[in-house]
Amino acid sequence: EEVERTVVAGFRDVPDFPRPGVVFKDITPLLADPVAFGRVTGALAAVAREAGATAVAGIEARGFVLAAPAAERAGLAFWPVRKAGKLPPPVLRRDYALEYGTASLELAASAVRPGERVLLVDDVLATGGTARAACELLEEAGTEVVGLAVLLELAFLHGRRALGGRAVVALHAQD
Ligand code: 5GP
Repeated sequence: EEVERTVVAGFRDVPDFPRPGVVFKDITPLLADPVAFGRVTGALAAVAREAGATAVAGIEARGFVLAAPAAERAGLAFWPVRKAGKLPPPVLRRDYALEYGTASLELAASAVRPGERVLLVDDVLATGGTARAACELLEEAGTEVVGLAVLLELAFLHGRRALGGRAVVALHAQD
């Protein structure tokens, strides 16, 4: 409960960003508060441990900021899921559709071991397209995605549907 209140307090609503009509949730205030940030990464580490994860993957870029300290606190491997073109080969790649155009995510093939149990972490679950692509990439690498953990789920965008039956833990949800 304390974690949830802290997370809510750490979000700033930015109207009409990045496009008119969108209310962007800015997590910068949360990151600037070490007590609130520590509670969040502690909560994410607990989710990873309780799910029996052996690794924590974060989606570039805000997912890195949350997943890396959570992995370290849980004593688990951290795997970056990167935007295309950043990682040296060999990489696994997944293209996915955005509202306008497409994007791609990549994973370092050398770091990922088949059979690992991965908790995927990102800041916000919106339509779920990004998280689904990351899950598919991790599964293509032979790992089991034990769940997706996010700070905030924008439930009105129904991201869970895009994730099929995969488990979702949201520290806070907006209906
Ligand atoms: P989706 O693919 O679920 O539609 O969008 C989720 C991705 O876009 C996440 O990687 C997340 O970082 C970013 N995103 C979408 N909306 C927001 C928002 O309102 N605030 C923040 N911080 N990130 C967002």
